[in-house]
This record gives sequence, C-alpha cells and structure tokens, in this order.
Amino acid sequence: MKVGIIGQGQAGLVLAIMLKKNIKDVDITIIDKNQIAGKKLLATGNGRCNLANLKIKENSYNSKEALKIVKDFDAKKQIEFYKSIGIMTRSLNDLVYPFSLSAKNYVDYLIRYIKELKIKLINNEIVKSYESSESKVKVTTNKKVFVFDYLIFATGNESAPQLGGDPSILNILKKHGYIIKENKPGLCPIRTIEQTKNIENERWKCKVSLTVDKEKVYEEDGEVLFKKDGLSGIAIFNCASLIARNRKFKKASISLDLMPELSISEVEKVFFDMNFVSKESFLYGIFTKPMASYIHYIANVKNPFRYTNTEIKKIAKAVKELTFNYKESYDFKDCQVAIGGLEFENLNSNLFSKIENNVGFAGELLNADGLCGGFNLMFATATANKICDYLLK
Ligand SMILES: Cc1cc2nc3c(=O)[nH]c(=O)nc-3n(C[C@H](O)[C@H](O)[C@H](O)COP(=O)(O)OP(=O)(O)OC[C@H]3O[C@@H](n4cnc5c(N)ncnc54)[C@H](O)[C@@H]3O)c2cc1C
Repeated sequence: MKVGIIGQGQAGLVLAIMLKKNIKDVDITIIDKNQIAGKKLLATGNGRCNLANLKIKENSYNSKEALKIVKDFDAKKQIEFYKSIGIMTRSLNDLVYPFSLSAKNYVDYLIRYIKELKIKLINNEIVKSYESSESKVKVTTNKKVFVFDYLIFATGNESAPQLGGDPSILNILKKHGYIIKENKPGLCPIRTIEQTKNIENERWKCKVSLTVDKEKVYEEDGEVLFKKDGLSGIAIFNCASLIARNRKFKKASISLDLMPELSISEVEKVFFDMNFVSKESFLYGIFTKPMASYIHYIANVKNPFRYTNTEIKKIAKAVKELTFNYKESYDFKDCQVAIGGLEFENLNSNLFSKIENNVGFAGELLNADGLCGGFNLMFATATANKICDYLLK
C-alpha cells in the first residue's frame, strides 16, 4: 500500500510512524514545502513541546467532534504510544511533555526514527493540486507528480505562517466541494479599546474573567503581560480563542482581579489601613510604579497622597475589576492556532472523505481548536490515530 502524507508537522510525522508500525508493507512518503520537518513543533511550548493534557474539559475544544476524537485517544493512550516508540514523557501538573522538556530533542528523535523506518521525507515541495479516482490519488507539486493509494492531508492551517502555517490546501479543498469554516486567529494577544502604553511590559498574576455580551463565560488564574496596545499571556490567549469561536458576539471584555487572594471588602480594609503609611500613595508599596499610576488613573482619584474613603473604594474597585474592552485579536503570525478550517460534515468518523475515494485529513486543518495546555498537539496525535485505525481495517 502506498500512502502519501502532505505535511511534516505533528499530525503527519506521528501518523507516518503509526502506519509503519502497524501495517505490513506500507510505503510512506511525506511531502512538505518547508526545508525541514517539524518546524512548528520546534517552537511549541516555549521550546518544551507540551504534547498533551491529562484533564480534558468541555471548553478545551471548540466542538463535540474534536472532544470525541481526543477522548478516544486520550492522554493516557498517547503516553503509551510515545513509550512504544521510545519517547518517555513527564507530566508537570496536568501538562504532558517529552521527558527531556526539549522540543528540539523530541523533533530530532522523531526524524531519526522516521528515517530508521524508511519513511521517505520530501522537502521544499508545495502541493498545488490533487485528483482522486476509483482507487488512486494523484498529487501534483511544484516539481513532480506522485500517485498514491491513499492521500492524507496533514497540512495545518493559517496560524504562524512564518513556521509553515498555510491555508492554501483549504482553498483547494473548497474547490473539491468541502465545507470550510472561515479562519480567525486563536490563542493570541488581543488589542483593547483602553490605552495600555503606560503599562507596556508590566506583568501581573491575577484572575482573568471574560465577559461576552454581558455573560461571564470564562475565568482563569494566570499571568497577564501588558503590551503597548493590549493584553497577552496564556489566560488572554484562551480568551482570544473563546471570543473567536463565538462568531456572533457584539461586545467582549476582560476583567482582571489584581488581588484575587482578597475579597473586595478585605482589599478596602487593607487600603484604609495603609492610607497613612507613606507620603506617597500607598499603591506604590503594593504595585510597581507604572501599575500604581495606572490604577490611580483608572480609579479617577485626585489626591496622590491621602485618599478619601470614597476614593479608597474606587481604587479597590479598579484593583478588583480592572476592565479592558476587546477591540481585535492579533494577526495569524502571532497566533498559535487557527479557529476554523475543514468542517467534519464531509468526513466519516475516521476522518476520511465521504465525497472522494481514499483521501483523509489529520491535524489542525480540521475545524478543531484547543485551548492552551497541549490540547492542539494532542488533537493532531488523536487524528493520526483515527486515520491509522481506518487503514488497518
Ligand atoms: C509558537 C507556537 C507554540 C505552540 N505550542 C503548543 C504547545 O505547546 N502545545 C500544543 O498542543 N500546541 C501548541 N501549538 C499549536 C500546535 O503547534 C499546532 O496546532 C500543531 O503543531 C498542528 O500540527 P499539524 O501537524 O496539524 O500542522 P503543522 O504543524 O502546521 O504542519 C503542517 C505542515 O504542512 C505543510 N504544508 C502546508 N501546506 C502545504 C502544501 N501546500 N504543500 C506542502 N506542504 C504544506 C507546512 O509547511 C507544515 O510543515 C503551538 C503553536 C505555535 C505557533
């Protein structure tokens, strides 16, 4: 059996290994337009490659289809799979990483293993078109024509174009009759209506709450990084995805509780007690100077030395509910996942096409996105498992 895989990312590389380990006499070629395999993988998890997550929640993915695929090949099964190919993992809280905590080590190992298994890697070739007939699939690149028994697209999506992110296959699939959901950037910083220039590069551990059309939809403890025009950090990335998943919202805002350890009345009491300790505002003894000035400004209080009781209450409110209105998300080059892609309608439960013969799909090109925490690589691996199961039948 000749299998062609387009894409040398997590989905394509892992799929090739699964097929080779499970199917006798399978001949596999993986084509990629990048010069090197696993280019995006090298950048994952801050260079540590967060492969999976031990705890899946309802909102970890955008759809029930994605959730089901991952539950069928959950973290426990994925850890076993890695072990079966010689990759030891470790879990930090619920996050699963290669034991080496090194994306580079992980990618180097995968590539060496793939070469050992005699899987062909072809680089610097862009797939331009394909044709499926009764039992063969013909693929045309910018250099050559290939003929396979099965063709699997593992071409990712529009996120991080500098690492290979490319939606061009989705445009080709559209012409073949597939339903494609328009892409939006997910897991990325956001721009806010409020100015944040004065607190650029500040970081603060806080509770982040997302409200969409007056309904509080998400809450996460995390570190927020203030950018010159908005907010960043993992909790903000997750908020950006949740906003992008909701295609019809009118207004979204993010509220930061800068002192989540204390209730508002406790914060007020602390502030009342501290209002006399310094000639300068007591805020400078709690927050960094830029943050203290910003809170002072947002609370709209006048006296920089001793505040009135009403002013203290206003400051406490600003600290407990520092609110930013969503303007827009950053671009695809700053995002970790695309929200959108190939819809599941035209696919069977093993991710093979219902409208053409012998064409399957794996990874981020599907309309599936996970929040931060290993959910996207975990999804890519789980889709590879579905494809492998189908070809084993
Ligand atoms: C900075 C960053 C950090 C991340 N960290 C994590 C993390 O720690 N954990 C996690 O779960 N997720 C993380 N993600 C998300 C995760 O990396 C992706 O969802 C996942 O790698 C997608 O894998 P894939 O195989 O589907 O696609 P990709 O890795 O995008 O691979 C697709 C490949 O197809 C090739 N290709 C596309 N079109 C063509 C064509 N026409 N012809 C030939 N080749 C083509 C591309 O060059 C690319 O190499 C991160 C993403 C980024 C950008």
